[in-house]
Amino acid sequence: MRAIGIHEYGGLDRVQLIEVDEPTAADGEVVIDVRSAALNHLDVWVRNGRPGPGLPMPHILGSDAAGVITAVGEGVPRSRLGEEVVITPGLSCRRCEACIRGEHSECESFGIIGANRPGTFAERVAVPAYCAHPKPRALSFDQAAALPVAYLTSWRMLLSRAKLRPGESVLVHGVGGGVALAALQIAKLIGALVIVTSSSEEKLAKARALGADHSIDYGASPDVAGAVRELTDGRGVDVVVDTVGAATWPIDLSVVRKGGRVVLCGVTTGAEAPTDLRTVYWRQLSLLGSTFGNDEEFRLLLNATESAGLRPVIDSTYDIEDAADAMERMEAGKQFGKLVLRVPH
Ligand SMILES: [Zn+2]
Repeated sequence: MRAIGIHEYGGLDRVQLIEVDEPTAADGEVVIDVRSAALNHLDVWVRNGRPGPGLPMPHILGSDAAGVITAVGEGVPRSRLGEEVVITPGLSCRRCEACIRGEHSECESFGIIGANRPGTFAERVAVPAYCAHPKPRALSFDQAAALPVAYLTSWRMLLSRAKLRPGESVLVHGVGGGVALAALQIAKLIGALVIVTSSSEEKLAKARALGADHSIDYGASPDVAGAVRELTDGRGVDVVVDTVGAATWPIDLSVVRKGGRVVLCGVTTGAEAPTDLRTVYWRQLSLLGSTFGNDEEFRLLLNATESAGLRPVIDSTYDIEDAADAMERMEAGKQFGKLVLRVPH
């Protein structure tokens, strides 16, 4: 079958259309005929390679997907054949203390489809059956594929970790990226006041159309902290959502209110940032890390597509053969919403 993968780590030029063997469903697994798959920055991290033991090559990229179950392994009911599904790509042992508590992304052996096993940018993919959830009827395959990584990550950050409540204020850096955009939508869904930032006035206009209450163009006015303080009458925001890391961390600590929460899920601009520890205790800050999400959070997220009309924002769709073009657009930061790959049938 055809897939999008790499034979060695490296830049965009390493991404190729490759021919690989058909996947088979091992015990407890299903094979999914992929209809749509979506890109994440994670694909770039995987493609670039990390220190430590590498992946078997060639490696198929991709973590998000929606499709139809075409084969089931031992222990999976045959009644699942033909089921339309969306996958949540988190891999966990399902047996450890964290998994038994239902906190699958806290599992010691936590991994991600596409990063720790062959990914979804393929005509078919084998995944553990617990990863395959019924696709909400309200969503197309494209929309379903756009949800898992970005929206689940954001759901956990805002609702489980930061415990955002209606009427609170939240600052979201870099709206346009998948997690940040999801944070805007989910925060509006529960009735929070949302301040977004971007260096693109076009993206800010789109964010306002999606409900952002205030927008800060840090290209035109780089003093984001000053702008946030002004917008909140000097009080600061209740919650900061950070997917950016080193570049925004000092802003986070200076604009979160006393007793507020900063929640972090990524460090695209760097992993080390100075922190004045006096600020942390004197201002009684909660600094929260968040990774991906658990089954219950994913179930609630899927429910919200039907109960609250939540729809992922899709920037554009590509034929799977043009995956490198989609990745180029993402790496240039041009997108507003998810980039979706379609597998023709
Ligand atoms: Zn576990």
